[in-house]
Amino acid sequence: MNSQSSDKFHDECGVVAICGHPEAANLAYLGLHALQHRGQESAGISVSDGREIRTHKSMGHVVDIFTPEVVGSLPGEFAIGHTRYSTTGDTILCNAQPLSVNCNKGSIAVAHNGNITNASELRHELEAEGSIFQASSDTEVVLHLVARSRERTLAGALREALLQLEGAFSLVFLAEDRVIVARDPHGFRPLAFGYLDRGDGRRAWVFASETCAFDLIGATYVNDVEPGEMVITDRDGPVREHYTPERARAHCVFEHVYFSRPDSIVFGRPVQESRENLGRLLALSAPVDADVVVPVPDSGVTAAIGYSAESGIPFRQALIRNHYVGRTFIEPSQAIRDFGGKLQLNPVRHLLEGRRVILVDDSIVRGTTSRKIVRMVRGAGATEVHLRISCPPTISPCFYGVDTPRQSELIAANHSLEEIRRFVEADSIAYLPMEDLKKAVDDHDNRYCYACYTGDYPTDLVQIETLVSAKFSR
Ligand code: AMP
Repeated sequence: MNSQSSDKFHDECGVVAICGHPEAANLAYLGLHALQHRGQESAGISVSDGREIRTHKSMGHVVDIFTPEVVGSLPGEFAIGHTRYSTTGDTILCNAQPLSVNCNKGSIAVAHNGNITNASELRHELEAEGSIFQASSDTEVVLHLVARSRERTLAGALREALLQLEGAFSLVFLAEDRVIVARDPHGFRPLAFGYLDRGDGRRAWVFASETCAFDLIGATYVNDVEPGEMVITDRDGPVREHYTPERARAHCVFEHVYFSRPDSIVFGRPVQESRENLGRLLALSAPVDADVVVPVPDSGVTAAIGYSAESGIPFRQALIRNHYVGRTFIEPSQAIRDFGGKLQLNPVRHLLEGRRVILVDDSIVRGTTSRKIVRMVRGAGATEVHLRISCPPTISPCFYGVDTPRQSELIAANHSLEEIRRFVEADSIAYLPMEDLKKAVDDHDNRYCYACYTGDYPTDLVQIETLVSAKFSR
């Protein structure tokens, strides 16, 4: 199989776009910094000063890449930015985004969060007709479709291109004098819209994967770019239109379970509220007589607060995470084994010794992290360790932009609850029931995608079968 298909399942990303601000690059940099948790492998910013698009991108963390000199060398009022995480395969710079090209529609740069599920087919068709690809990411397909379109305007070409895409995409485009953003008709991945007062009576317009990026730059969140919506923003402000009718909503529930920051509003809903609800409901469905509730930091913290509040059992931060993990720990090969910094934990012995512990984490994927942490807690003197997971068992891979391993490696896809308990060496184990997950995110009208917990994918099955075989033949 080609490198494209091995790569395209690993696009956990954050995107940001700034329109109409003299310090666009600086704001994009700050926005990316707030979105660093969405991807630590590479980051990039493209800016336009109205005439020329300049891009700087590199492997590594946002703060290391964007020194004051680099940000200072990116002039212009329009900017897009991207931060990307990849666990395996093509960890090369040409896959870092934004991707930029000069074509018959002018200079364009693009950054993408999500996973275009028909990218392989589109790419094969384009290659058969002579297109030459430089990177192995699915995003490049979009640029080719735009360049080949017979529509004369960029917006027209984009509309035509977007209609050919399937799967998950929150896209931000930069042209010489505009920013254009679009979201897939199911709304899989988030994309928030807001503004920033420039201080001279005018507004700059901003877009970001999560609203925590707005908070850092002092922007006001207005609402989300809607599923199937495209927003064209130039110096005169935003023009919103539906390039395609919205389809059944399929917001990624994992954004609320794990991926987004708790201080963000995602899909119009505070992540903190969802996550605390997850913990509260878990305490009701899986109570246990114990002495302390201990989160696995950072992913289990908010749910553990909810569990503790509901159960009345004290919350203790008895595992301390080292936040100053260097680049060695984000090496993809390391990350795929251990999910990186998760293992930079140290137990607080005097909080655990002789105690019956309820250990709360957001999810179990392969089970190896949980097992190490359960061992660590027991090694620090806990007499009992009860593992509580704030979502249902992860049984199916994601094809819409969250990195999950192949199904054969998902412990819950192939083992009973009792087998998982034995593997992680816990005294008891419980996951959150599906109905409670829906309740926690207030999903009364089926707006979320739960495919990783159910195996029911909201898009075309034929595509999925192709993808499954591609993914599993890695
Ligand atoms: P595992 O050892 O494979 O069971 O890893 C489970 C841990 O990985 C949990 O603590 C999760 O917080 C974390 N995790 C789950 N899904 C992801 C993901 N897609 N990317 C990064 N970390 C994840």
